[in-house]
Amino acid sequence: MNKFFRRLSLPSKLLMLILLPLIIIVYLTIQLYREKSDHASLLHSYLDRINRSVSISKLIADLQSERKISYNYALTRNGDLPAQIMKLRTATDTTLAKLTRHEDITLKEFANYTFLDSLGSMRNKIDKGFSADLVMHFYTTAIFRLHTLNIVLAGNNKYLDPLFADLTTGKILNEMVTYLEIISTNFYNALYSKQNNVAMLFGLMGVHDIYNSYEKELLVKASPEFIARYKTIRNTTELKPVVEYIDHVFKKFSFDTLYNTEEWAAISAIASSRLSALEKDILQNAQSRMQNILDHELRSRDITFFILGLALLIIFALLLYTTHIITKMLTGLSNASQKLARGVSGLNIKPFTNDVIGSLSLSISSIDENNKTLADAADAIGKGNFNVPIYPRSPEDTLGNAVVRMRDNLRQFEQRKDDFIKMASHELKTPVTTIKGYAQLLQLHTAEKDPFLTNSLSAIERQVAKLTKLITDLLDATKIETGQLTIKKEIFPISEIINPLENEVRAISRTHSLVINQHADPLIYADRDRISQVLSNLLENAIKYSPGGSQVIITAGLDRDSAIISFEDFGIGISKTDEEKIFERFYRATGKNEDTFPGFGIGLFIVKEIITLHKGRVWVKSEKGKGSTFFISLPIQH
Ligand code: ADP
Repeated sequence: MNKFFRRLSLPSKLLMLILLPLIIIVYLTIQLYREKSDHASLLHSYLDRINRSVSISKLIADLQSERKISYNYALTRNGDLPAQIMKLRTATDTTLAKLTRHEDITLKEFANYTFLDSLGSMRNKIDKGFSADLVMHFYTTAIFRLHTLNIVLAGNNKYLDPLFADLTTGKILNEMVTYLEIISTNFYNALYSKQNNVAMLFGLMGVHDIYNSYEKELLVKASPEFIARYKTIRNTTELKPVVEYIDHVFKKFSFDTLYNTEEWAAISAIASSRLSALEKDILQNAQSRMQNILDHELRSRDITFFILGLALLIIFALLLYTTHIITKMLTGLSNASQKLARGVSGLNIKPFTNDVIGSLSLSISSIDENNKTLADAADAIGKGNFNVPIYPRSPEDTLGNAVVRMRDNLRQFEQRKDDFIKMASHELKTPVTTIKGYAQLLQLHTAEKDPFLTNSLSAIERQVAKLTKLITDLLDATKIETGQLTIKKEIFPISEIINPLENEVRAISRTHSLVINQHADPLIYADRDRISQVLSNLLENAIKYSPGGSQVIITAGLDRDSAIISFEDFGIGISKTDEEKIFERFYRATGKNEDTFPGFGIGLFIVKEIITLHKGRVWVKSEKGKGSTFFISLPIQH
């Protein structure tokens, strides 16, 4: 497992890491959705029950209306069947059909046991002139039985709390109608038989008490609005005389002649239909509130699901983006470190973040910068700049400390070499000067006497002059190195140092001719000897590096605020790569031709230093095999 995980690519690892929490979130979202859906379906089933109850109430109300009209018709039996009765029957049939379609288990084949399967034959009988008592009996028993089916319990469910009062009131009203119908039917029978049935009244006493207790419960549990409505019905409709009559009969324990059978049948039916109507209203009220609760619940479920889905999408997108960014950053760093391993520098890594990746990129970047600094320092040291500052990153910085040691050691070697050259030059100078003196003296003594001796002595003198120049150059180079080369400035026209060059050419070479083009003769403020030394050097080089012998053209002129002097030869020329380097100390482009072109490679180094000390410039234009032109520019004196 460990091996497998390690072998996975970084994006796969990161994706695996995010996949687990993501699966958990998806799982929880589904669970939450399910729970909310279950909850909604629970509420839905409650709403179904309330709907069913409303339908039963409607059927009861329809049957009550039909009972009233049918009873009256059976009583009077005069004329045709009133049109109203047909309307009521259609309404009852519609409600009945609707209820029959209900799939609720509690309503299974309810027509069977609520006598409603004989509703059709009863209506036929009514149409043919059936006895009013039997009509009343049929409808009343059917209504009574339907009432017993019409119970929606408030249930112990906190989501139904807002409906609790209404559902309870509905149930109490339902019971009250049931008990009122029992009492009314028994009273009807007593009035019909015209017998003061005391035994029956005893039996009914309990029912009467229960009816009253339900009324008390109603007044306690119903909402203030429904209590007010109940009281209105109780005090202003047919319910008032009916209840008062019932109370009166139970008080006296005998029936009086206030109502005859028909009157009682009519008024008691209306009284109970008043209560039924209130029950229906309550149920309808509960129904619409229940619908609201359900709608709210469904909406909340959908919103929750939507928000969770959106959050999931955002989280997923964020995680993917983060994975992408981390991979990109690490890939960038990996590429950079690969380059670093190959020795590339100047990677220009930006620190992306303030964390572990940021610190990694900072480290790589500082390694890169350090490499670059060390490389620059090494370059500078290579060019002889031993003062280049190097700051090791820490006492343990192997490379930095090694470069510092290398620089210091090289400086020491250089110092020793310079000291040696200086000392050797000094030591050589005295004997060479002596040789030169004696050679000149000998020449005076042997003048014109022995031509061989004279020639030999002048050859000695020329070689000694060359030697002197080499020694002087070496000494100058060491002076430059130690910063001891000084200049003594004066004002003079450039012609004063250009003109003597003509004689110099004759002294050095018989095969070269000099052309001097002096376009201007500006004054310069410079060290006469040092600038002469520069011109001599450039002239000597022009002659030395055009061995075939030809012209050397010296041109002097003005370019804005500078005096420009150039030396053009038609010799071996210099390659482009060498053009830059020939001004460095000891650099010789003709290094392998020591015999043809003798030299130390410090002439141009001294030239450059002297010109730089005068705030001037020296440069070359050349073509290999065709010749070179060296230019110097010096600021002019106004
Ligand atoms: P040296 O002449 O002693 O070698 P310099 O410092 O005077 O040293 O010159 C450096 C190098 O520049 C020479 O070795 C030579 O290769 C090149 N150089 C200088 N002047 C010329 C020139 N006029 N033509 C061609 N090459 C030249």
